[in-house]
Amino acid sequence: MPPASPRIAILGIHHEGSRFAPPLTEADTREWLRLDGDAMWADAIAAKPRSVGGLWGFVRAMNVTGPWTPIPIAYLDCGAAGAIDHGWYVRVREAMREGLKKAMPVDGVYFPQHGASITTAELDPDGELFQMARDIVGPGVPIIATLDLHANVSDRMVEATDLLCVYRTNPHTDQSARGREAAMAMREMLAGLKTEKAFIRLPLMAPQVSQLTAAGPYAEAIAYGQTKVEETVMNVSICGGFTYGDTPDNGMAFIVTTRGDRGRAQAVCKELAERVWSCRERFLPRLTSLEECVRRAVANGRDAALPALCIADVADNPGGGARGNTTWLLEALHAAGAKGVALGVFTDPPLAAEAHRLGKGATFEAHFNRAENEPRSRPFQARAAVIGLSDGVFPGAVDGTAAGTMVDLGPTAALDLGGVTVVVITRRQQCLDPGYFTNVGVDPAAARTVVVKSRGHFRAGFLRLFRPDQVIEADVPGLTSPNLDSFDFRGVRRPLYPLDMDAGWSPPNW
Ligand SMILES: [Zn+2]
Repeated sequence: MPPASPRIAILGIHHEGSRFAPPLTEADTREWLRLDGDAMWADAIAAKPRSVGGLWGFVRAMNVTGPWTPIPIAYLDCGAAGAIDHGWYVRVREAMREGLKKAMPVDGVYFPQHGASITTAELDPDGELFQMARDIVGPGVPIIATLDLHANVSDRMVEATDLLCVYRTNPHTDQSARGREAAMAMREMLAGLKTEKAFIRLPLMAPQVSQLTAAGPYAEAIAYGQTKVEETVMNVSICGGFTYGDTPDNGMAFIVTTRGDRGRAQAVCKELAERVWSCRERFLPRLTSLEECVRRAVANGRDAALPALCIADVADNPGGGARGNTTWLLEALHAAGAKGVALGVFTDPPLAAEAHRLGKGATFEAHFNRAENEPRSRPFQARAAVIGLSDGVFPGAVDGTAAGTMVDLGPTAALDLGGVTVVVITRRQQCLDPGYFTNVGVDPAAARTVVVKSRGHFRAGFLRLFRPDQVIEADVPGLTSPNLDSFDFRGVRRPLYPLDMDAGWSPPNW
């Protein structure tokens, strides 16, 4: 008999950690969100939550599928950033440990996790947290986590949990749906279901730009995986992984969870991994050189008959831990005299503050990156007019990755550099939909060329302005460049394709 009102603990750290980005400390308060107990619950049931979709999707589904006693413990959301300062992480972990111990006995545990966290001293904090929960609750209590498909999955993460339920869309428009799926699985496990899992990690580090799910090899792998889901096969998850974590757990991961049938889990897992491995060369990126990006933008500014162009600055994606403030494209487009360009969003708190101080209509010498230390984010200056100001708060577009949430860019300014208009923001994040421009009076639909600082999540919200063939990915330096040769990887297991083009793999002998 399942408990009348099962007690479900909820806790987790949602973080995608890049070893190449500056470490994240507790003092960087603009960069993270922490919700404990009641605050976590209030957010999860709010009309526009700030926490990740898995969390509120899980809570809402549990609310409508029967009685339960939620025990929200603590949730820390660091987004995508550098490694978490280890001392801070330990304090958060220990608070979670105490919270979970105090909550005992519980009937289940849910983690709204990302799965690619690192700290300055621990390469698998996700696995450590799952194992910590397992040690406290014991082997019989279900532990379920939702994961981003950019998770770097460790053996420990798989072994310590009963189900890892991974997003199947990139842009991630199914976060709350996966939370709901996790809740349905929790109900089944509370009623007595025991799962069996199989796990394979390929020595394949797919560049982030080749992990889209609308089309391409990753899309096909996920779609084929879903054809295997039936009565016995409960969940098929495929994590493309997060390249810049640079850990031994980097590599495309396949997790198949069945209702008690280990052999079936292994057979499906093996088949999926073999299919992907046999077409691994399809994951190599196709980027456009800076010169070609500039040439096309200049041509677009001159000839209104050409289709509008969207240039994705994939190497400077704050959604992957980059700074959102490199100037390679900005400087080159400005120098070339490109017209009708809208570029956003550029993170520069002092510049946004200065524009607010000067007021709309003011002209001034704009100094970009005056307070930045990251060497890839060089200073740049140009004459600018302040043509728009906003508080940067607006609802995410219904068709974009920020749907259902309130976006908060902090004080925001539109600066006209003469031909190139830049949207400057205060709170670092990637550009997810046209609202990131229109909130400050810039219309991307009227621009001849739009430059977005995002790797791929912008695609959902900008699809109404640009067909996929109007989008190009720029090959410029940056902390999230898909050009993997430009990074000094030290933590990954070698050989690893495509760093090692001759890397080999054969399926496990289960
Ligand atoms: Zn992701």
